[in-house]
Order: sequence, then structure tokens, then C-alpha cells
Amino acid sequence: MLEIKNLHVKINEKEILRGINLKFEKGKIHALMGPNGSGKSTLANIIMGNPKYKIIKGKILFNNEDITNLSPTQRAKKGIFLSFQNPSEIEGVTISSFLRMALNNSKNKKISVLEFYKLLKEKLKLLKMPENFSERYLNQGFSGGEKKKSEILQLSILNPKVAILDETDSGLDIDALKTIASGINALMKKDKIIIVITHYKRILEYLKPDKLFVMINGKIVLEGGPGLIDQLEEKGYSWIEKK
Ligand code: ADP
Ligand code: MG
Repeated sequence: MLEIKNLHVKINEKEILRGINLKFEKGKIHALMGPNGSGKSTLANIIMGNPKYKIIKGKILFNNEDITNLSPTQRAKKGIFLSFQNPSEIEGVTISSFLRMALNNSKNKKISVLEFYKLLKEKLKLLKMPENFSERYLNQGFSGGEKKKSEILQLSILNPKVAILDETDSGLDIDALKTIASGINALMKKDKIIIVITHYKRILEYLKPDKLFVMINGKIVLEGGPGLIDQLEEKGYSWIEKK
């Protein structure tokens, strides 16, 4: 289980997260929604250990171990993965060499080149992506959809224990959305924790989250089951703020 306890986070002297308490359980898909600027990406980055954000109070526990002060690399080794809202381009590095490096860094034993290409081929096929996709330079000249697919490819290869997907569905056409949803569903197992940050009901129709949380202005203001999705789609967030 991944547990966030009374978390307060500052960036540039401004308190962005103002006392977050959350439990993300194994074997469940969790959706995190909320208006722009409410702090969702901040929470994702904090779980991953991004040093840009400063924790002023609170704790993050993963399988009862306090990981609040671990580096991003140490967290990645524990199986925590974040798919970025705006993935960066890396000049001169192909997707396949990046993925092999990432995989070797995340595991303590090295995978052979042959084994790696077998795995890569299998995942490309699963995600209905052309084989030469992995020979392109990471995110360079990628369309929005291709960037997101490359993030999902990374997710399938690394096979993390905790996957946080920050607006991985934004700006996708229906086919790309289905591909990405099936990539996420394929990852889902009893021991996995999946956290999907999204603005849209569409991806949640494919993922069928078990739990839904709403964040407004740095606080979790509402949580519920899948039924909440329709309510949010219909009424937006203003009715919650008024509660
Ligand atoms: P969300 O993902 O819910 O849209 P964010 O976590 O990106 O929200 O942002 C929450 C708040 O923190 C916003 O007011 C945003 O302007 C501020 N913020 C986020 N990152 C930075 C940063 N690097 N510098 C200054 N302010 C930031
Ligand atoms: Mg965001």
C-alpha cells in the first residue's frame, strides 16, 4: 500500500499541498481528478521524489516503509513510476537505448541485449506500435499521441509496482486512447497500484477505476466510487467547493 499522511508541500514559498491524506491500495486503479492548478501534478512529483518541491510536513509510506526522504532513483528501484504530463526530449538517445538503460537501472541485475529486444518487441506488439518506433530519438518531433505512447511503452517495459499516470490521456484520438488504456489494463495485477490523473471520463470508461479522489486547492475534498465520475462530468467541480 502507498500511504500519504498529512502531507504539506511548498514550492517557491507557496503552500501547494495543504494536508493530504490518501491511501492507494494494491490491486486497485485510483483516479485523481480536480481543476487545473489544484496540485495533482505536485502530488505525483512528490511521490516520485522530485527535489524541486519541498515537504514541510507529513510522510509518504510505501509498504509501511517511510520513503519520504528517498531519492527518485531509490524510489524507481522500489518500483515507483511516474509518466510525465510533459515528457522531455532527449537528443541523440533512441527509445530502445533509453528503455534498456532505464530497465537496467531499475533492476539490480542486467538484462541481456537479446532478452531486452525480445521484451521490447513483445510490448510494441501489445501496444500496436510499429517496430521501428523504438529506433526514433526519445520524444524528438513526436506528436502528442506518440509522446504518450512512448510513456506507456516505458511503463510496460519497466513493469512497476506503482504507476502514476499524469494526464496520459490528454489530447489523444480514440485509437491512441484505446491503445493506452489497454497498455494500462495489461499492467494491472493483484499487486499493482495504479493512479490515473485525468480530466476526462473517457479514459476512465476503459480503465474502470475502483476509487476516485477529487483534489481542490491542495486538499482532497471528495472521494467515492465509480459513480462519482458521471456526477463530475455533469456538474463540474463548483458544487463541491460550495459544500
Ligand atoms: P495540477 O496538476 O492540479 O493542474 P499543479 O500541481 O501543476 O496542479 O500546480 C499546483 C499549483 O502549484 C499551481 O498554482 C501552480 O502554479 C503551482 N506550481 C506548480 N509547479 C510550480 C513551479 N515549478 N513553480 C511555481 N509554482 C508552481
Ligand atoms: Mg497537472
